[in-house]
Amino acid sequence: MTRYSAWAVFRNGLSGQKHWDRQWRDPEPAAAYDIVIVGAGLHGLATAYYLARNHGAGSIAVLDKGWLGGGNAGRNTTIVRSNYMMPGNRQFYEHSLRLWEGLSHELNYNVMFSQRCHVTLLHSPAARDAAARRYNTMLLTGSDGELWDLPTLKKEIPHLNYDNARFPILGAAVQRRAGNARHDAVAWGYARGADSLGVDIIQNCEVTGVRRENGRVVALETSRGSIGAGKVGFAVAGNTSRLWQMADLGKLPIETHKLQAFVSEPIKPLLDHVVVFGVGGAHFYISQSDKGGMVFGGDLDWYRSYAQRGNLPIVQDVCECATSILPCLGRVRLLRHWAGVMDMSMDGSPFICKTPLENLYLNAGWNYGGFKASPASGWYFADLIANDRPAADIQHFTLDRFQRGVIIDERGAGPDPKLHG
Ligand SMILES: Cc1cc2nc3c(=O)[nH]c(=O)nc-3n(C[C@H](O)[C@H](O)[C@H](O)COP(=O)(O)OP(=O)(O)OC[C@H]3O[C@@H](n4cnc5c(N)ncnc54)[C@H](O)[C@@H]3O)c2cc1C
Repeated sequence: MTRYSAWAVFRNGLSGQKHWDRQWRDPEPAAAYDIVIVGAGLHGLATAYYLARNHGAGSIAVLDKGWLGGGNAGRNTTIVRSNYMMPGNRQFYEHSLRLWEGLSHELNYNVMFSQRCHVTLLHSPAARDAAARRYNTMLLTGSDGELWDLPTLKKEIPHLNYDNARFPILGAAVQRRAGNARHDAVAWGYARGADSLGVDIIQNCEVTGVRRENGRVVALETSRGSIGAGKVGFAVAGNTSRLWQMADLGKLPIETHKLQAFVSEPIKPLLDHVVVFGVGGAHFYISQSDKGGMVFGGDLDWYRSYAQRGNLPIVQDVCECATSILPCLGRVRLLRHWAGVMDMSMDGSPFICKTPLENLYLNAGWNYGGFKASPASGWYFADLIANDRPAADIQHFTLDRFQRGVIIDERGAGPDPKLHG
């Protein structure tokens, strides 16, 4: 595999760009693998990569019913941050942010991670107090965070609606090391890295059944035949309940909802930060892509579905939020919008855990925050599968936490999945 470098770009430029290697192979499925990961999204690909890189874990395959990165991996708004407070989440997301900071070098692939600041607008003294508590917790646990007063915010982001907003802006809570990245590049980088370590990535291979014997999975039935497996990991995001039912395991504390994202026509540089606005029932986040498009999103569509498309009331809602905090966007044209299917859990936190079947492992419940989590998720899911025990940072991400009363409800929204984000 070509190692990407300035020299490789120069050399291939001289030879008409004809000597680049394929980024990954397109193998036929083998009869059996030591480990099979279902789902070639960010979590499945990162898991396969770290299984091979950190654990040298035998023969590994990743199966996907479509093309790799075609699910939520390629549909999200790419925000990366670690401003979590609850024990369990805090350490996990900070580990993820640290992996992000070295990811382009680790994968020898430019994932375009841009630490451009994550700015949460504050609209009341109570919100400011809550943010102070959260961001002080972050500082005390080795992360970064700061509060901006209004003059600082105005200097940093002059275009917000400071004069005539329904919810006046008092300041902001800021994580400077946060930002965004190119989502496709992350999927491609992990795929290329995993493939180069011998992982078979098998696209257009839908899992249609799970064959069990004596409390173990022995094989997966797929659209390309039966594939035997020593261990199996599910990393299928919004389709988790479907796979769970194929394994005859009953119900999961997960609902599938859809979330839309929007991009405008490209405009000149306007916004150099990720800005989040949430008050009075509104929820909205926005950044500007390197191509100039304004990339934004808001709430879930508020009804359960596996369809990867959204409805019009949310289009209106999100556009209203956009113009209420950035009135200068009023005449910018919307270019595209799309949706992904989100695995919303009852407390808004994920599962990286063992299951009732001895050799089946679960990675799910990412709500709409799974992009930022993908490096740490892959790291720890690989560790769990390889060593058959959870590392300390994921010990709380179990299915039985609801029975034991140790939920991780970061938002304080209660057991209603559509209220968690
Ligand atoms: C609009 C939107 C905005 C978002 N914004 C952010 C954000 O700003 N920041 C953030 O952190 N997160 C964000 N997210 C969430 C994030 O994208 C997801 O949590 C994360 O991508 C989910 O993990 P994944 O990449 O592994 O999932 P996916 O990419 O969905 O991967 C799952 C894969 O499983 C495959 N699969 C499903 N069923 C089967 C089967 N039966 N057989 C074989 N394969 C199967 C699918 O084809 C799919 O490729 C957003 C999501 C959306 C939709």
